[in-house]
Amino acid sequence: MIIVSGCLLGIPCKYDGGTNLSKTVKGYLTDKSYAMVCPETMGGLTAPRSPAEIVGDKVLNTEGEDVTEAFRIGAEKAWKLACERAEEKGEEITLAILKARSPSCGSGRIYDGTFAGVVTDGDGVFAVLLKEKGIKVITEEELEAHMEEETSND
Ligand code: SF4
Repeated sequence: MIIVSGCLLGIPCKYDGGTNLSKTVKGYLTDKSYAMVCPETMGGLTAPRSPAEIVGDKVLNTEGEDVTEAFRIGAEKAWKLACERAEEKGEEITLAILKARSPSCGSGRIYDGTFAGVVTDGDGVFAVLLKEKGIKVITEEELEAHMEEETSND
């Protein structure tokens, strides 16, 4: 069972009401079992919504509103849903493919809290939770390397 960011599969849950559709992710998951989640909308935020970034130990949006709780609740709900799906299928969660640089889904690199398009080292709220649970997290930008690794291990 693979967890995947909904926006990567074309769900219009991105902050601007659009998607981040990735043909590579979609193709990779064609013959696989997956749970599609969007932690931000699952936390009660709308699409569209004001963009948010992690600022210190909080998540703030461009209106200056503190949306930390919505991000935290959404991450918990997304994890719970993925666990339920995995249990229904009798599978383990082996991987998460999440949207790069998002304050929820970003892994390794995220926007730096200045709303200036600058990235810094760090993980989004959902990626932190998954890593704490021991789940391997990659972004859509790392998927091709992951696929090559899988092929070389066959
Ligand atoms: S929270 Fe994750 S799945 Fe939802 S729009 Fe943002 S990057 Fe995509």
